[in-house]
Amino acid sequence: MRRPIIAGNWKMFKTIAETKSFCDALIPAILGVDHCEIVVAPPFTALAAASEEVDGTRIAISSQDVFWESQGAFTGEVAVRMLVDAGCTYSIIGHSERRQFFGETDESVAKKTKAAIDGGLHAIVCVGELLAERDAGRAVEVVRRQVQEGLGKFSAKELSSITIAYEPVWAIGTGRTATPETAEEMHSEIRKTIAGIHAETAAAGIRILYGGSVKPDNIASLMAKENIDGALVGGASLDAMSFASIIKYL
Ligand code: PEP
Repeated sequence: MRRPIIAGNWKMFKTIAETKSFCDALIPAILGVDHCEIVVAPPFTALAAASEEVDGTRIAISSQDVFWESQGAFTGEVAVRMLVDAGCTYSIIGHSERRQFFGETDESVAKKTKAAIDGGLHAIVCVGELLAERDAGRAVEVVRRQVQEGLGKFSAKELSSITIAYEPVWAIGTGRTATPETAEEMHSEIRKTIAGIHAETAAAGIRILYGGSVKPDNIASLMAKENIDGALVGGASLDAMSFASIIKYL
């Protein structure tokens, strides 16, 4: 009943020309796939080119971040309406790299998420604990707080425009994937946290993606878990063939 999403986060990789070659390779490789939503998140500079390339296909385009104001003197920021204008239908929000290196907080994540969904984007909101927090036995407490503070004020209707990505920071770009059991345990906690804020139906309907060193050879075992509704893929989404085989995990 929850339609899976496989999303690729390119981070700070690929020029416009590289984006075009990626799309040229990905589009024929995923022809006929209809078991999941497919999302690609290029850097801001390649969003419009990517949208043009995937026009008429089932691939959707996402930004990797967004700002909450609609316009103004905010040097370096990009507004929701600009992303929509560039062809985006999704935005990743609160990625751990933004939280760690650019001072994102649960509060800024909530403001960005509100602006994104009000402006018609689907928000992919990232949560996840640091290694030290997991080692200290605080993983569930940290992720619960991120979900409550970041998403606690949204209505059940607004939640239908939000997907959560659980990305344990120790698994991102490290080659150390969470086992399907560890990931499932946290996904189930996240769903329970949503159920504690909203009705069971909102919790049952929200999609929770796993992210952290997802590769073609581990996607199927992750997707087999009841509460894992897709993946947010970094490194392995940069190569069209590798990303296509993750998309075709069935
Ligand atoms: C990410 O950037 O969201 C991510 C999960 O990266 P990787 O797949 O490389 O660990």
